[in-house]
Amino acid sequence: MDCIFCKIAAGEIPSDRVYEDEFVLAFRDIHPQAPVHALVVPKKHMKNLLECDDGTAVAVLNAVKAVAKSEGVSESGFRAVTNCGPDGAQSVEHLHFHVLGGRQLSGRMG
Ligand code: 5GP
Ligand code: ZN
Repeated sequence: MDCIFCKIAAGEIPSDRVYEDEFVLAFRDIHPQAPVHALVVPKKHMKNLLECDDGTAVAVLNAVKAVAKSEGVSESGFRAVTNCGPDGAQSVEHLHFHVLGGRQLSGRMG
């Protein structure tokens, strides 16, 4: 499958990893939109949140929390967001949560 995040999870494309466990990988976004901008992805391919099973949902959200802590934004605050489908501006069709922080984020959500 020609999926960039599957290739990153497999180590075929390099990434700046910030978290990894059995089910989940997190790495820095190549075009960061905040001082902290990580992507949390399940190692198993799924297109977006609509395909996410219960176990993966728990693993991904726990990884979001771990990344927020290890990146030093759990106290200052952060945003975790997943874009879904065309109107959601999803550009990579492999489920991922953006973890953004390290500055005051806009109150606008879109
Ligand atoms: P989306 O628009 O689908 O919600 O987010 C996709 C994100 O993946 C974008 O923020 C984009 O910068 C990031 N991205 C795309 N290709 C790569 C890559 O090869 N490496 C990394 N680290 N990030 C990527
Ligand atoms: Zn994939």
